[in-house]
Amino acid sequence: MKKFLVVEDSPIVIKIIKHIAKLDAALSFDTATSFKEAKILLKKNRPDAYLAAIVDLNLPDAPNGEVVDFTLKLKMPTIVLTGSYDEHKRDQMLEKPIVDYIVKESRFSYEQVLKLIHRLHKNQHIKVLVADDSSTSRKYITNLLKTHLYQVIEAEDGTDALAAIQNDPSIKLLITDYNMPNMNGFDLVKNIRREVDKNSLVIIGLSTQGSGGLSAKFIKNGANDFLSKPFSHEEFHCRILHNIEAMEHLETIQFAAYHDYLTGLFNRRYFYEKGEEALTIAHRKNTPTSLAIIDVDHFKKINDNYGHDAGDIALIEIAKLIKQAFGRFVYARMGGEEFCVLLSGLDINKACTLLENFRELIEDNIIMLDNTSVSITISAGIAQDHNNNLDDLMNEADRQLYEAKESGRNQISATE
Ligand code: GH3
Ligand code: MG
Ligand code: MG
Repeated sequence: MKKFLVVEDSPIVIKIIKHIAKLDAALSFDTATSFKEAKILLKKNRPDAYLAAIVDLNLPDAPNGEVVDFTLKLKMPTIVLTGSYDEHKRDQMLEKPIVDYIVKESRFSYEQVLKLIHRLHKNQHIKVLVADDSSTSRKYITNLLKTHLYQVIEAEDGTDALAAIQNDPSIKLLITDYNMPNMNGFDLVKNIRREVDKNSLVIIGLSTQGSGGLSAKFIKNGANDFLSKPFSHEEFHCRILHNIEAMEHLETIQFAAYHDYLTGLFNRRYFYEKGEEALTIAHRKNTPTSLAIIDVDHFKKINDNYGHDAGDIALIEIAKLIKQAFGRFVYARMGGEEFCVLLSGLDINKACTLLENFRELIEDNIIMLDNTSVSITISAGIAQDHNNNLDDLMNEADRQLYEAKESGRNQISATE
């Protein structure tokens, strides 16, 4: 794991940063208390051993930001810390390709540093496409993005950019110029929006000042935001950050809406939405489908005997096995100790074989609860689709589950 390098002479600041590091196992820091120490460290551990450098502007042996120039020369993303706010110095700093400039004023400043560090960590996994026919402009934007550790891909015109987006759905952000040969920025945005929505890919249009309604048109054609050229790198990064954070918040909300909090498995809502879709496709293509409801036997006793927390552990373990066994299907925890799987492509015989294997797997699996080896069993009800809707299938599988329970549990029951 890559580390951060902190060059700072104040023991208090070092203490705060070390405290922050202790709270987060994903972060680790090397510290140097002078320019000299920093040079020694960087000779010993090459600059690319570090994700970024957090450097104090005023050090006893480097009173005028010499460390900043040094780390920038080594191409290290550099966050500048300073003890006092000075408009002139700030402007001077922001002319350099630094990540950001933070004044050490309060606890809030360190939170800001921490936020930046987390951001840089995350940015390494965010792919950005820059579409611009001017290689100078493209390189400028690419370098700004690389300073913040984004993965950057370049495209020379709209056609190239569209192909890149179609071939790589992991691209999260597109920054596009308007004037480009073959396909301009508007057509590019319009074409992309036919397939990819605003929440899955952020598009920022670049417009030149004085070019009329270009910015508004970008938004109307489906871009999330725009930037007017020329822009400062501070403005550029603020705008990118704002849009990336909005997308991440939405991803978090979407994840929570479709997942079960305890086990991390998909939830009932997901199952109904994706299940209906899968069933419609199966009817159109005339492929067989079966549905299984799996319910843990006498689960109440697990809670009664070992406590509710142990019951939770058992559910998490079962969920893990469900994911392993049925990961290629639409599956979910429907609530309590009940799980559903829509077995697309499987007729009732194949579905029964799969579920019988799963029943045996659970029966043989030992779970440690409260230092005791516990074995758990499940029952399953299985129904075969005959152009039914999802509710009908669920009802039939539920009837079969009731049969399995009535006949002694630890077994499967299916429609003939
Ligand atoms: P059967 O074999 O008939 O299915 O018996 P059962 O005890 O498994 O079924 P019942 O529906 O009577 O009880 C299910 C229990 O599951 C009751 C409930 O307290 C427990 N339960 C539901 N959700 C959770 C959960 O998230 N965590 C834990 N620990 N228990 C849960
Ligand atoms: Mg049960
Ligand atoms: Mg139940």
